[in-house]
Amino acid sequence: MTISFDILTGRTETHLAHHPGFNTLVHRDVLPALTNLQKEAQAAGFDPMIVSAFRSYQKQLEIWNAKAKGERPVLDDEGLPLDISSLSEEDLCLSIMRWSALPGASRHHWGTDLDIVDRRALPSPDYKIQLIPEEVEDGGLFAPFYDWLEQFLGQNGTPTFFWPYRHDKKGIAPERWHLSFAPTANALLEAYTFEIFWRNIEESDLRLKQAVKLSAHELYHRFFLNITPPG
Ligand SMILES: [Zn+2]
Repeated sequence: MTISFDILTGRTETHLAHHPGFNTLVHRDVLPALTNLQKEAQAAGFDPMIVSAFRSYQKQLEIWNAKAKGERPVLDDEGLPLDISSLSEEDLCLSIMRWSALPGASRHHWGTDLDIVDRRALPSPDYKIQLIPEEVEDGGLFAPFYDWLEQFLGQNGTPTFFWPYRHDKKGIAPERWHLSFAPTANALLEAYTFEIFWRNIEESDLRLKQAVKLSAHELYHRFFLNITPPG
């Protein structure tokens, strides 16, 4: 497969396939490992559910612009809403990027990354899943499922899925729900140069664009390359 600009930045769906078990679009390379993960999790008594897998450039742009306009909450490290009126444009960018990727620079564009929870742990069918620290930390709703996942994924000699946001590296906040399919995601990350990052910004109809351009190098290193590696 040629890794094109459009695949890297979420502007096409040619690399995707439908996963029937989860009823979601993922990178086609991910299908067998994802089926296996679902089967094993169910056998262990969980009901895994994917909240978000592939996300298009357009969708990420809507999220970003809504946060920049104050139409969607921008969260602090604890997952609580921030007052953005007092922030400079640069600080607003940094705050948004703690929890939301720049449009065109989300690993969700690749279809290799997914946000997963345990449906069985939901207190009621209409519970609104927030994906915040409180739900995943010790004692949180989904903690038993993630404890199991760590054990299950740790058994394999070769990493399949891993947690790119496992540790707080002062870029993206820790996300225990976010898994990434190592073999394919690593190849995509390697292909995603700063030139791609820059071209993506240039071609984006993005709020806060000037502030993003001014700190492009820092943002690329701190929020994009700065992951917890597999293994
Ligand atoms: Zn995610």
